[in-house]
Amino acid sequence: MQMSSQNQPTVIILMGPPGSGKGTQAKEISIKKGLPHISTGDLFRENMNRDTQLGLEAKGYINQGQLVPDTLVLKMLYERVSKEDCKEGYLLDGFPRTIPQAQSLDAALGSSAHVIVLNLNVPDEVVIKRISGRLSCSICGNIQNLYYSAPLMEGKCDQCGGELQQRADDKVEVVKERLKSYEKQTSPLVGYYEKKGILYQVDGARNSEIIKKELLEILNEKGIKS
Ligand code: AMP
Repeated sequence: MQMSSQNQPTVIILMGPPGSGKGTQAKEISIKKGLPHISTGDLFRENMNRDTQLGLEAKGYINQGQLVPDTLVLKMLYERVSKEDCKEGYLLDGFPRTIPQAQSLDAALGSSAHVIVLNLNVPDEVVIKRISGRLSCSICGNIQNLYYSAPLMEGKCDQCGGELQQRADDKVEVVKERLKSYEKQTSPLVGYYEKKGILYQVDGARNSEIIKKELLEILNEKGIKS
């Protein structure tokens, strides 16, 4: 478990456009830092797979590349972070995505947490290529990419042999919508966190090992040790 030097819970926010690699980096950092990885996108997908009421409500927005309304996101997020494993901190991936979500999180945390925001910068053309080649395993969730980590056997997961599928919202036309909502609703968060002096910019268009090293260096410098 991870407490900051002042014995406050640590909240790491990993930001970046869709396809910036934040999910991959979040998994690695979560393991290294011993903090639970909370991905609002994964929480929605779990609900959609289980056909819960929340999953049914969210599905229409997600499959059109739009953001799910704040009320649904906030309820789901606060339920998750109120669990015991988040008591000493957590890593957020895909939240907040709007200024009202960020303000709500600020109000919920007050001054009780050590918050640090890492922003992965990636140009649109790289994002579109990365996402349109992305495939995920229907069994173990492993992510592969037709361009960067092509499956050894076509359509099969290298890790478990399960069927690889494209996410409905990873189709090129939906990705373009997701990029538009990112630009309009999420990118203003960069300025929001910059003003607070807690934002760190990282070039996300490079090799994922190099990016991971840089992210971990920033966290170590800020006193978030393994
Ligand atoms: P992700 O896996 O993070 O790319 O999220 C997939 C989709 O879930 C997004 O395109 C949104 O439709 C929805 N979603 C995830 N997180 C949020 C959020 N914080 N606010 C609104 N919608 C979200």
